[in-house]
Amino acid sequence: MGQPQISSLSSEQNPKKEFKYRIEDNWWKKFNIWKNVSKEEFLDWRWQYTHLINSPWKLFEAFPWLSEEEKKEVVEVSKIYPLLISPYYLSLIDPNDKLDPIKMQCIPSKEELLDVASTEDPLAEESDEVVPNLVHRYPDRALYITTNFCATYCRFCTRKRILGKATVTGVSSLQKIVDYLKQNKQVHDIVISGGDPLTLPNKDLEKILSELSAIDSIDTLRLGSRVPVTLPMKLFDEELLELLEKYSDLLWLNTHFNHPNEITEVSYLAIKNVLKLGIPVNNQTVLLKGVNDDVEVMRKLMLSLIKIKVRPYYLFHCDPTRGIRHFRTTIWKGLEIMEGLRGHISGLAVPTYVVDAPGGGGKIPIMPNYIISMSEDRIVLRNFEGSIVSYDPTGKASTKEENQKFEGIISLLKGDFDKIDSLDSERIKRREKRSRY
Ligand SMILES: *Cc1c(COP(=O)(O)O)cnc(C)c1O
Repeated sequence: MGQPQISSLSSEQNPKKEFKYRIEDNWWKKFNIWKNVSKEEFLDWRWQYTHLINSPWKLFEAFPWLSEEEKKEVVEVSKIYPLLISPYYLSLIDPNDKLDPIKMQCIPSKEELLDVASTEDPLAEESDEVVPNLVHRYPDRALYITTNFCATYCRFCTRKRILGKATVTGVSSLQKIVDYLKQNKQVHDIVISGGDPLTLPNKDLEKILSELSAIDSIDTLRLGSRVPVTLPMKLFDEELLELLEKYSDLLWLNTHFNHPNEITEVSYLAIKNVLKLGIPVNNQTVLLKGVNDDVEVMRKLMLSLIKIKVRPYYLFHCDPTRGIRHFRTTIWKGLEIMEGLRGHISGLAVPTYVVDAPGGGGKIPIMPNYIISMSEDRIVLRNFEGSIVSYDPTGKASTKEENQKFEGIISLLKGDFDKIDSLDSERIKRREKRSRY
């Protein structure tokens, strides 16, 4: 496959596709500690691994812009909830922005310790654990927790309970998992998660993929990984790409971008390497207060994702996990965002907004109401512009009385009127202009 070169995406290859997420050349050099680090080093995942920021002291050295108070918080919080940030992910922070969305996702804050009321495992994954590390909740699919390690620990992690605890060695329970799946042939789809499965040593990942793909009843293996966001250069590794290619008939990748600033040329190249193998890439975003709880930010994120051929799959409402309450916003904020997406931007860029039911009820989709009213032979709907239409839900021929007086929605329910247009809509204005010619 050849080591992809950063900036190899020259406009000569395809003048129409000039890449739009080019970050500044040598952007990491504005961090003093890395000012002598070459591009070859910084874009090598092994260099990133050996320079992972895993203690407050390393963080303060790399990121000297924290206030004394912030530093104190980092020291206190990381004793309870460990700190881990890849140099690459840290380098995407704008040091001048106190509330930078990437900073908020990876640098500990005192709010984490203030939240003592929420539960550690709100989705009761441990109750649905049928064999160690395998959560079987839905009829035909199951979730495999392969490791508790990630290339960066997100402060809002829904499995905050397993970070920094005795290492989860999902590979050691692989045989039991295979036995369970052979006896439960209704399971066709395995979510390979963690932690982050793309941080596993290649030989462990190979073992998992080869054992699972050898089971007749398994059709789909989904990798749930944030590596394209936090350590994209891992996906420049030839050995890993060859391994993924070997199982590409079954593989899907579900990644996790939360903010447009995370989409860089490096992450784009990583995604491209995966797509080249015939592995579709989807995205799961978490709605996070102060990070992406904004219609404009979310539009930009979703549209940027489809530009790099990543299909928005889910927008998750943030779970009530202990230590992450400060990231939770309201359901109505989520609904407002969905209102701002559907119809306004490409349908390819619109995810499904879901709430994970506490206690293990699974994912429940929620969306703004598009049904306004119903009668026996009419359903009244509204569109994204606020126009209201009367629709025949029965498939039967409908009758319409002429010269009826308009009485409101009831007239649409009776079938006397077809619609109420939103006069402020651009589309209606366009139509009016057109009818003047
Ligand atoms: C989310 C999840 C899945 C996958 O659900 P989909 O809706 O198919 O994406 C499977 N098992 C568990 C336990 C999950 O939480």
